[in-house]
Amino acid sequence: MTIKQEQMKTKKAIVIGAGVSGLSAALELKRKGFDVTVIEKAPRAGGVIGTFSDRGFKAESGSNSVMLQSQKSLDFLGELGLKEKIELSNPVAKRRFFVRYGKVRAVPMSPVSLIFTRLFTFWGKIRLFFEPFVSKTPADEDPSVAQFTIRRMGKDLLDYAMNPFMAGVYGGNPEKLSIKHAFPPFWNLEQKYGSIIKGAMKARKEKMAAGNFFKPMMISFKGGMQTLTDSMASLLGDSLKTSTKILSVDVNNGGWEVSWGNDTEDSCEYYDALVIAIPSPNFKDLPLSGSLACSLAPLENIQYAPVATYTMGFKKSDVKHKLDGFGVLTPEKENLNILGSLFISSVFSERAPDGYIALTNYIGGMRRPNDAYLPQEKMRELVMGALKKLLGIEAEPVFEKMWSWKHAIAQYNVGYQDYLDIIDKVENEYPNIALIGAYRGGVGVSSCLESGVAAADKIASKLSE
Ligand SMILES: Cc1cc2nc3c(=O)[nH]c(=O)nc-3n(C[C@H](O)[C@H](O)[C@H](O)COP(=O)(O)OP(=O)(O)OC[C@H]3O[C@@H](n4cnc5c(N)ncnc54)[C@H](O)[C@@H]3O)c2cc1C
Repeated sequence: MTIKQEQMKTKKAIVIGAGVSGLSAALELKRKGFDVTVIEKAPRAGGVIGTFSDRGFKAESGSNSVMLQSQKSLDFLGELGLKEKIELSNPVAKRRFFVRYGKVRAVPMSPVSLIFTRLFTFWGKIRLFFEPFVSKTPADEDPSVAQFTIRRMGKDLLDYAMNPFMAGVYGGNPEKLSIKHAFPPFWNLEQKYGSIIKGAMKARKEKMAAGNFFKPMMISFKGGMQTLTDSMASLLGDSLKTSTKILSVDVNNGGWEVSWGNDTEDSCEYYDALVIAIPSPNFKDLPLSGSLACSLAPLENIQYAPVATYTMGFKKSDVKHKLDGFGVLTPEKENLNILGSLFISSVFSERAPDGYIALTNYIGGMRRPNDAYLPQEKMRELVMGALKKLLGIEAEPVFEKMWSWKHAIAQYNVGYQDYLDIIDKVENEYPNIALIGAYRGGVGVSSCLESGVAAADKIASKLSE
């Protein structure tokens, strides 16, 4: 085949949005031989992921870590040349804390520690014992996390386990989140085995018997999370256009005619495939052709929790708690002003200079959405109040950095299946389009990476038919 024929065969794809979802789809498409263009409206790629360094402290604007769930994700990072840059979390991060009676308490990780913990009441523990005997939820129901937890494990477990856990993952409200979509592991165990406790034991054995020995691992990267997105962006080279605006998107002849522009260049071209990788509430900002705009409009209603992150550095000697764990999450009932505090300098190295520690505090969420937008002074007061109670910190921070996100974490609320149906319909009706982002397939970085790769796979196989 001549070079000209080869070039004629090269398919073109355009990806809108260069957060981790868009970057992963773009790189996988590129790896499959596509000529890829990535349009990002911000001056840099990475979306909510970004690392700020100052005087030996590091603060993450969004995600602090990635929970790798599969060998495939690890291999993908290897293919990106990132294996050497991976930093494994300190084993101490396996220890987690929730709050009860105003005190930080370790989450029990064994039956013995469950018996002795003060995190749950005596009756709460007895109720949990009956979980295996509770009947299964009918498969066509869509209970909230709260309904599901109360039914299977009781109210105490909802208030002091699921509530803080959902605050940590989603900044979410268990009364609204759907167990099926927001926490599928519990739903699937119940559906398959009739019980979460019995199911967890059986599933572990089955996983081992099937030869799947991959242990989920929590990682970050040398230099912080931005190393991930910067490395991905640099692999895209000139194909990544930052500070660039999409001017029009039209369906045309089995593909897409998209025009875009920035201060130095503009273009109107035909692309075989289109990947939209921006948060769904931002769809309204895209100049989409009429029918597509109408089809996507309902997805703008997917709720997102606003969250602020406030990283503070303190002298080690000013902190009473040993910080010997991943961090502490707060149950709503404890009436604290923060969703939680991550002991980031205990989890990864080089997050604080010698003799100092760093904490990343989370504020707002669906619990107190307005708090995510407080001015820094007010936010500091709020966080310091909680840190004083929980960790005995009275001294002023020596380092501070905060970010406030309006569309921080997508909420997979009851009724979420309707949105999935719309997404499927759009992808079936329009040619070679993929909709990806944290509103679909999981909010974690690992899920976003996997969704990007899966979208690229799907587009490539559709176009090779
Ligand atoms: C505070 C916070 C803490 C988190 N902590 C963790 C954690 O510890 N672990 C974890 O796994 N996950 C965590 N997450 C979740 C995870 O980081 C995100 O879900 C994930 O990074 C989202 O990536 P994304 O690419 O889908 O979206 P985004 O990062 O939002 O990227 C979307 C991109 O699209 C661009 N864009 C938007 N509109 C347009 C447009 N019209 N034209 C062009 N570009 C556009 C944006 O500028 C942005 O760059 C956290 C998230 C937040 C906010």
